[in-house]
Amino acid sequence: MTALPDDFAEERAAATERERGTWRERLRARYPTWTSGLVRGFEVGDGWREVAEDFCRSLDDRLGGEATCPDFRLTQVKQKFGLIRIYFENANSKSLPVVEQVIRCAEDRSRTACEVCGEPGSLIERRRYLRVACPAHEHVSFSL
Ligand SMILES: [Zn+2]
Repeated sequence: MTALPDDFAEERAAATERERGTWRERLRARYPTWTSGLVRGFEVGDGWREVAEDFCRSLDDRLGGEATCPDFRLTQVKQKFGLIRIYFENANSKSLPVVEQVIRCAEDRSRTACEVCGEPGSLIERRRYLRVACPAHEHVSFSL
């Protein structure tokens, strides 16, 4: 049996390279099955490291580990309209309410944590672009 071609091979390789040696790589290694659908990896700033790590840990605790939900996949973890956004597929009727609740919790936390450094921050608009920043990073251009 041959493996299906991976339409996202290039994006996966780029993400793997970008995340090498970072907390993102370690987090993916801790949850290899659930994060295998993250073609572009964890697309959030270092300030949201704890938000991302706690999100995965809560999911793990509440769903009973990857072996209990082997089909569940995170598909995107990124910033959109200023907050962390987490997309997934293959939740079942039992896991869906838990997943949705844990995601809401992560979104709420991202609303008050600077995406650059993790210090208390607020949602600001700069050049028509929303993001959460602390006073020190309000005027700092930021990209991953
Ligand atoms: Zn900051």
